[in-house]
Amino acid sequence: MSHFASVEMTPGDPILGLTEAYLADTRPGKVNLGVGIYYDEQGRIPLLRAVREVEQALALEAKPRGYLPIDGLPAYTQATQKLVFGADSPLLAAGRVATSQTIGGSGALRIGADLLKKVLPKAKIAISNPSWENHRVVFSAAGFDVVDYAYYDAATHGLDFAGMLADLGKLEPGTVVLLHACCHNPTGVDLTAEQWKQVVALVKDHNLLPFVDMAYQGFDKGIDTDATAVRLFAESGIESFVVANSYSKSFSLYGERVGALSVVGASREEALRVQSLVKRTIRSNYSSPSTHGGALVAGVLNSVELRAMWEQELTEMRERIHAMRAGMVQKLAASGSPQFGFIQQQAGMFSYSGLSKAQVDKLREDYAIYAIGTGRICVAALNHANLDTVVSAVAAVSK
Ligand code: PMP
Repeated sequence: MSHFASVEMTPGDPILGLTEAYLADTRPGKVNLGVGIYYDEQGRIPLLRAVREVEQALALEAKPRGYLPIDGLPAYTQATQKLVFGADSPLLAAGRVATSQTIGGSGALRIGADLLKKVLPKAKIAISNPSWENHRVVFSAAGFDVVDYAYYDAATHGLDFAGMLADLGKLEPGTVVLLHACCHNPTGVDLTAEQWKQVVALVKDHNLLPFVDMAYQGFDKGIDTDATAVRLFAESGIESFVVANSYSKSFSLYGERVGALSVVGASREEALRVQSLVKRTIRSNYSSPSTHGGALVAGVLNSVELRAMWEQELTEMRERIHAMRAGMVQKLAASGSPQFGFIQQQAGMFSYSGLSKAQVDKLREDYAIYAIGTGRICVAALNHANLDTVVSAVAAVSK
């Protein structure tokens, strides 16, 4: 008798299931808008020139592969701190930030969740409604009760800011609040700087613990502007907060699993104590991160020339997304569907298109265009070759 006889089939990830259906589809001109990846104008995942330069130099060096420290490559974590908090951040100067290299942004969330569970065993976590599905999964797996706060307003395709403030205001002190820094996944709906200021003030007043997830820094307005939430928390006088960041999108290094967890403490000494607990948490999970991806990011960020090259490439990705949003809205209006103007106000790779489940099904069945049942589309999967096909199909199902 197998020890696993009682294991039942666990439902798979619905997004991966959609990709399988897309791959099996033999219709020409099929388009997959269900993905969570940036594709270039040719429909490929880019390999950035700056990354390739470092990779070639590393291959020539042919270094041995010892273990990294538990919290990662120092050249990586130091460069990450500057990118996330700003090179001239007083928090960094005061030594109040403890940063660890993690297995992608997902790893940062999980290590952060495990850490907070140890420090605040009774705290709940509040996530936006809706949020990236893995937020609920990761924090529940770490033992948290996950509650929602209002976020998306389906009627306006924008932010329910009053609802958000009202819900955050009802949370018990000490509740962890997960906030998307920019390019909200799945809606594409972000806060303005003014709105962030109000959220920061409320979080401070109610003594909540902010956990900022920044998976798309540089994908909307630019490296520093996209980090507005982090910078405002840093300036606010709030003594402790957490940031998870990811390079999956901004370096197009999805499979290298490069991210970081930064925990801000009240003092250098507190940050050191927290870091010792973060290291213990990592040690009991996967011991230490892998070498290659971290070396690539550190190599780019620590070279003046390659950093400039990367910033240029990041700008190109961001501008291509903006161009696709504008093109989609313009062409939809020209096809008699002017109601999609909000897509241009949304930010990042994703858009809650407002399409219903039935419309999404029709797109797939009649037009070989794949999107998620919630109506989320990946704008970064559009290009000049598929835009007209997508627009005419969306216009047709919206009539
Ligand atoms: N947070 C959000 C909001 C995301 O969308 C993603 C990636 N889909 C992540 C975190 C995790 O990124 P990574 O692939 O680096 O684990």
